Amino acid sequence: MDRLETLREKGKRLTPQRRLVFTALLESPGHATADELCASISHKVPGFQRTTVYRTLDLLVEMGLARRLQLGHSNAYEALQVGNESHQHLLCDLCGATFDVSVPEVPDWVERMSSRIHFHVERVELVGHGACESCRHGSRTAAG
Ligand SMILES: [Zn+2]
Ligand SMILES: [Zn+2]
Repeated sequence: MDRLETLREKGKRLTPQRRLVFTALLESPGHATADELCASISHKVPGFQRTTVYRTLDLLVEMGLARRLQLGHSNAYEALQVGNESHQHLLCDLCGATFDVSVPEVPDWVERMSSRIHFHVERVELVGHGACESCRHGSRTAAG
C-alpha cells in the first residue's frame, strides 16, 4: 500500500476514518460516486458517517490524491496514482459508462496554448461525450 504512504507523506492528519475512505476509493474499480463509496464503507463499518465520506473526498481532492469528475449529472471520484494523473475520459451518454483514455498529446497542447498568455495550468479535464461500443451496437440494451 505505497499509496497510503504517499498520503502519510503529505503530512496531513491521517485518521482511521480518512484512511478507510481512501482505501475504499483505491479499491473501487474506475470511478466511484460518493454514494457508492458510502455504501461500500458502511458494509465494513456500519453507521459510518456520510459527512465524513464527503469531507474526506474533498480533502483527498485538495491533497492531489483524488480527482473529482463531473460526468453527466453525477460527480464521481477516482484515486490518482503515479502514472494515471493525466488521463482523460470518455463518457457514454446512453449508459453512463466512463472510460479512461491516455492522450499523451494533451499536456503539450495545453502547454502551447497556455504559455502564450503566461497562464499556469493546474489540471485539464477533457471529457468526450458519445456512445460506447455496446450502446452503438444496441445488442445489450432494450430499445430506448
Ligand atoms: Zn454505453
Ligand atoms: Zn479516470
